[in-house]
Amino acid sequence: MSSDVLSSPLLKLSGISRAYQSGESTITVLKGVDLNLNRGEMVAIVGSSGSGKSTLMNILGLLDQPTDGTYEISGNDTGALDGDALSALRREHFGFIFQRYQLLSDLTAAGNVEMPAIYAGQAARLRRERAVSLLDRLGMGDRAHHRPGQLSGGQQQRVSIARALMNGGEVILADEPTGALDKQSGEEVLRILDELHAEGRTIIIVTHDMSVANRAERIIEISDGRIIADRRQENHKKTKPAAEPGIAGGQRWAALDRAQEAMQMAMRALIAHRLRTFLTMLGIIIGIASVVCVVALGEGSQQKVLANINSLGTNTLEIFPGKTFGDTRSGKIKTLRVADADALAKLTYVAAVTPTVSTSSTVRYGSTEANVLINGVGEQYFAAKGSKLISGRLFDAASVRAMTQEAVVDETTASSLFGASHIDAVGQVVILDNVAVRIIGVIASQQGGFGSNSNLQIYLPYTSVQARFLGDMSLRSITVRIADDADSKVAMSAAVAFLERRHGEKDFFVLNTDEIRQTITSTTRTLTLLVSAIAVISLIVGGIGVMNIMLVSVSERVSEIGVRMAVGARRQDILQQFLFEAVLVCLLGGCLGILVALGFGSVFNSFGAGFTLVYSMGSMILAFSCSCLIGLVFGFLPARNASRMNPVAALARD
Ligand code: ADP
Ligand code: MG
Repeated sequence: MSSDVLSSPLLKLSGISRAYQSGESTITVLKGVDLNLNRGEMVAIVGSSGSGKSTLMNILGLLDQPTDGTYEISGNDTGALDGDALSALRREHFGFIFQRYQLLSDLTAAGNVEMPAIYAGQAARLRRERAVSLLDRLGMGDRAHHRPGQLSGGQQQRVSIARALMNGGEVILADEPTGALDKQSGEEVLRILDELHAEGRTIIIVTHDMSVANRAERIIEISDGRIIADRRQENHKKTKPAAEPGIAGGQRWAALDRAQEAMQMAMRALIAHRLRTFLTMLGIIIGIASVVCVVALGEGSQQKVLANINSLGTNTLEIFPGKTFGDTRSGKIKTLRVADADALAKLTYVAAVTPTVSTSSTVRYGSTEANVLINGVGEQYFAAKGSKLISGRLFDAASVRAMTQEAVVDETTASSLFGASHIDAVGQVVILDNVAVRIIGVIASQQGGFGSNSNLQIYLPYTSVQARFLGDMSLRSITVRIADDADSKVAMSAAVAFLERRHGEKDFFVLNTDEIRQTITSTTRTLTLLVSAIAVISLIVGGIGVMNIMLVSVSERVSEIGVRMAVGARRQDILQQFLFEAVLVCLLGGCLGILVALGFGSVFNSFGAGFTLVYSMGSMILAFSCSCLIGLVFGFLPARNASRMNPVAALARD
């Protein structure tokens, strides 16, 4: 030490101990180690297996912390530093070479070499150039784009040396660097280390092989956690300590650049495990697809029903006997009379009134026989409903008074009775329940609201139906059309009040299209919400699946995490990488889910279910952000586990 007494040592260990808790007992591996290592030295640490060499090396490289004692780098105590400060020191000062190379198999040689510079924040172009030139210098220029699996052990070790030099490699820590190599490759690696030493770098080699140790100028022997010898070999020529400075990091958008790198790493990991990625996504795909489909189904059916209601017109109301819709006695209540309809017709705000009665029966024409709904209506019915005449004529007030046996049919009925050429229907006579009836007109089929257009419909004067089919003068309902210039809400309540006064009590109820519309809208909304809740549960289950696989992925890749930390990744970098992976899986799953939903929609529509799925941009954006959120929420725990990993434990696991 006499020649170095003036310059302060680069690395200074004082009273370093390291104890492991194993069950009840404590194993002390290092027992009060004092050691000074100077800039530019080439030191070999030797000792038998289990003597504590690797433990000492890990403490020197800041991968592990001593239980006792102080460790100073260039006079600065490292004891009080947090994880990020330690990884910064690792990035700036140390390059690691491991016995088993510890290259990441998903990356090319050049990708492995440039990794430390990503965490140091060097610009992409610069670090790529530097990685290739370092590989070139180590005789690996033509292998820069090979994966570790395609390289021999000696070649992989040279890649790992290049990686150690990437950020400057002021101090190279090599733990049994030749342990896994044959004699010739081992010799090659040692020659490179000699060269690096000659350049002025500090080299620390751990070995149990004396022939390797003898190449160093200083040999430190360790046994059972204590230094038992520390000697210098005088035959080595002195080198000038003139290591190149660490590379300049901290470019302006470094954090953004690292995030982008983390994204690429996540992508690579997903591509490397395609099947697993897909299976992980499946839960999300199903969840998102069902959410989008359910919303589209709800929207589609609602639009269909609303279109039906709109075809009824916005300003008609139907008055039924009984207390409410669905009153079982309403068929038997006979309080609604023709006189009510006549009185209502006299009101100024009423445009048209028609009493209706109905019954069902069979209709016969030639050999054709079918069930038919007989509607007994007033002459104003067609005006009130806005029906369109296609051929022939409609019956008038005189027909109603005379109880004529004249009928109007809709198009559907005409074509099922008389075949495709239903224009010929006019003038034909059909037998309705033993009563002969002449067809005088055909009207366009109306989307009559609730599936009524699937029945055959025939319209007769209500007086004829009452007299010839029912034998009863009470009405099934009265349809009122409010005048266009009247306020429909006010007019409706006035009409109701008028009828209530006439009857002395409210023994009828009113359906108007506005109310029906509101009821249906709120019903479908409730249903959509309900089914969406189920879909959300499936999304949560999918999210738990993602979390599960991410936990597996983290535990599978502990050595990768260890290597990344060794070359200077911050905890945040690791967190980011795994979080990106989870979010990416979910986002991809979300996109696929939306595609599946769209595909389902086009299949559904081609089957012609009577209505189409209506996709809203809103539900897709919601689904997209949902999957993003699921990735963040369910990816966080695994990612945090990864980032809290102890680098030594992670490296030792292999
Ligand atoms: P070597 O000199 O062979 O590199 P190490 O430093 O790896 O020896 O290990 C020294 C001793 O410390 C060994 O007896 C080993 O079992 C023990 N040891 C190392 N790591 C741990 C650990 N994480 N927990 C408990 N004991 C450990
Ligand atoms: Mg060891």
